[in-house]
Amino acid sequence: MTGAPQMLRDVFGFDAFRPGQKEIVDAVTAGENVLAIMPTGGGKSLCFQLPAILRDGVTVVISPLIALMRDQVRALQEAGVAAGALTSGNTPEETDAVFDALDQGRLKLLYMAPERLAAGSALGLLRRIGVSLIAVDEAHCVSQWGHDFRPDYLRIGELRRVLGVPLAAFTATADADTRTEIVRKLFDDTDPQIFLRGFDRPNIHLSFAAKDGPRRQILDFAAARPGQSGIVYCGTRAKTESLSAALREAGRTSLHYHGGMEAEDRRIAERRFQQEDGLIVVATVAFGMGIDKPDIRWVAHADLPKSIEAYYQEIGRAGRDGAPAETLTLFGPDDIRLRRNQIDEGLAPPERRAADHARLNALLGLAEAMKCRRATLLGYFGETDITCGKCDLCDAPPETFDGTIAVRKALSAILRTDEWFGAGHLIDILLGISTDKIMQRGHDKLPTFGVGKEYDKRQWQAVFRQMMGHDLVRPDPARHGALKMTDAALPILRDQATIELRRDSIRNASTRRPAVK
Ligand code: ADP
Ligand code: ZN
Repeated sequence: MTGAPQMLRDVFGFDAFRPGQKEIVDAVTAGENVLAIMPTGGGKSLCFQLPAILRDGVTVVISPLIALMRDQVRALQEAGVAAGALTSGNTPEETDAVFDALDQGRLKLLYMAPERLAAGSALGLLRRIGVSLIAVDEAHCVSQWGHDFRPDYLRIGELRRVLGVPLAAFTATADADTRTEIVRKLFDDTDPQIFLRGFDRPNIHLSFAAKDGPRRQILDFAAARPGQSGIVYCGTRAKTESLSAALREAGRTSLHYHGGMEAEDRRIAERRFQQEDGLIVVATVAFGMGIDKPDIRWVAHADLPKSIEAYYQEIGRAGRDGAPAETLTLFGPDDIRLRRNQIDEGLAPPERRAADHARLNALLGLAEAMKCRRATLLGYFGETDITCGKCDLCDAPPETFDGTIAVRKALSAILRTDEWFGAGHLIDILLGISTDKIMQRGHDKLPTFGVGKEYDKRQWQAVFRQMMGHDLVRPDPARHGALKMTDAALPILRDQATIELRRDSIRNASTRRPAVK
């Protein structure tokens, strides 16, 4: 029998495996139950296609995306591999050809849409044709609280049991909850080997900065990279237009892009970005899905993304060619408030909302990280032993200090005003400023009034931002963004835990130039 490396060259035309591929191919070929988590574009399909060719019998591939299935079948057929698909998009001739190949025992890979599993005849068919392996693409579709739940995926676990064959599941969605759910629903009593590799994009430099004249920060970042193609992601459509205009005024070639534009204008922007060198696109998240430009040299976020997954996806559009690429993500208290509100006001069920808050928290934790961003980011995806040297915190480790007392003062101000006020009013209390609002409510009589004079307003803003970053407090949408304590704050309030804060944003706050609008 020809081995995997030979097949890799002869059938797929690749010289070498990508990180993680070989281990997965070996395990799947050996008939192990496998859950493999790899980023989009990491090369998952090879990890079941190659074992399918090497193993006896038919491999059933379950995938939710008909277009993708058809692409893969076509590519395999062109490479001389007997593959076919049974989907609702088939012509009768295509379906006949699949059944002929199955009858003659020729077919190696049979792609099926999950809906097909619901048909009464599916199990009989799979039994008859000698299935020896089930491969499941986009395995997170089995997760009820995920974004792409497919009820028919719930049948796959039973199928595995009844057919008594190994199952190999693949997904790019890696958070621990989803992973646990996949294992439970697809593998129940068995204990699959879990592979998690390839999330690192070592050529991408990571950096974050607190908003401090954000427009100027983005213009400076772009100005330091003349002639390079880049993407600036913004939280609103209006901002894409104004920021793009500012970049043009600064002498750059720049286009805006958002979902409210005519389809034709969007296509023109996409085409220009793809073809021209040195073009900047200022966009909402609507931009990027179909973009396959290898030499995007930088990605900047003018506003905080909505989750750590979204962040990873968006920066991941830079440097596909493997050459150095840079990123800058700006964040501020308004972003955090906006993102929390979007989650709370969305229509998702409560469990999903909790998960979305957790994904946002993970991103805030990354924004306020004290050590290597790459280790923090990849740690979230489950990868350990990261070598970096390519992030702002490895470049210049931040100084931290014991911020427990400051945080306790801030928490106390929140509690003594019944969690009814936002950061602005709380800071006035801490600074002992007798505003009308303070006098009207008698807040000048509070024991907390004026206990925070060691910091100025901007330094306290940095403290509050870091508290939000550590999820000690959350804005309550039902109270116009009033800050509420979370359970995580209790140990600090009770003197049972301490908290480190980053010194840079607090020490420098008052010496920075004023915000440019
Ligand atoms: P995904 O993990 O998103 O399903 P694919 O399986 O579609 O990714 O692979 C992404 C791309 O990487 C494809 O163009 C594929 O041909 C290519 N690829 C996969 N494995 C290798 C390899 N070992 N060497 C070179 N290119 C590869
Ligand atoms: Zn680092």
